Amino acid sequence: QIEEEQTYLLRPGATKDEVKIALGINVGSDAYDTAGAAYDFIGLFRTEFLYMENDHMPTEEEQFSVYRRILEGAKGKPVTLRTLDIGGDKTLPYFSLPKEDNPFLGERALRLCFSHMEIFETQMRAALRASVYGNLQIMFPMVGSMEDIRRAKEAVRKVMDALKQEGIAYDPKVKIGVMIEVPSLALQADLVAQEVDFASIGSNDLTQYVCAADRMNAAMEPYYQTYAPAMVRLLGFVFESFQKANKPISVCGEMAGNPKGAALLVGLGARKLSMNAAMLAAVKAELARHRIDELEKMAKTCQKLCTEKEIKEQMEM
Ligand code: PEP
Ligand code: MG
Repeated sequence: QIEEEQTYLLRPGATKDEVKIALGINVGSDAYDTAGAAYDFIGLFRTEFLYMENDHMPTEEEQFSVYRRILEGAKGKPVTLRTLDIGGDKTLPYFSLPKEDNPFLGERALRLCFSHMEIFETQMRAALRASVYGNLQIMFPMVGSMEDIRRAKEAVRKVMDALKQEGIAYDPKVKIGVMIEVPSLALQADLVAQEVDFASIGSNDLTQYVCAADRMNAAMEPYYQTYAPAMVRLLGFVFESFQKANKPISVCGEMAGNPKGAALLVGLGARKLSMNAAMLAAVKAELARHRIDELEKMAKTCQKLCTEKEIKEQMEM
């Protein structure tokens, strides 16, 4: 089977009946590996490494040169740069985070950036300056409300205005999007779709928050159910909402890189998936085994089932 999968490396993503599925890669370092596979976009560029592998907050120049290199390397393919997602489990040795009882429910990611605007603005200046070297999209993590979206967009506008004043070039048409990984945002996906250019579902955190089960706690594994009935229903609603609004929606959590998970997502309405490059061939091979109507039928059945166990059985097709 592995050998058969390898024949899919360079093929585009599609179902058996040629419904095109755009496949992207998740990148979490400067020197990333595409595993020899063809891909359509970088669906998640995790910028944390820049901060975690340093002994100081990366400067605007340090960030700019890395972002520029990634954008140039992508050769015109869209690159979705996610702004700093620190806090929760991720800490920085040179920066003291607030002491909290529940850090995953606390000052994490965008929330931390809002309380340290200088960190946020430095990153966006670097990203916007790099935007002229490729096809950049900016995405915010841990967004929980429309207020969060508007506040983040306002911060981008402010940085754009400052660059303009200084006569520094940037792409004014940079697309602005959000991660859908907090249930409060997923449940108003129809409204969110009106407010953003695109979104990407972070199924890792969405599972953690929908199931109230810590993703880092091995003892909570039975409760951390990516294929829980609530997840399957919620994902269907999010895809439908973005399709109605004619806005791009992708998935960049681990679910997208699991071949059976990818097949379910396509059945639920996904047409864009982003994953670790090492999973591309296996996902392409799995998608090519099924017609879209078969996947849709399977997904519809899953939305009526009562337990994750039943859903997983159904996913075996
Ligand atoms: C997610 O939450 O699904 C995601 C892609 O982001 P991270 O795993 O970095 O939190
Ligand atoms: Mg996340």
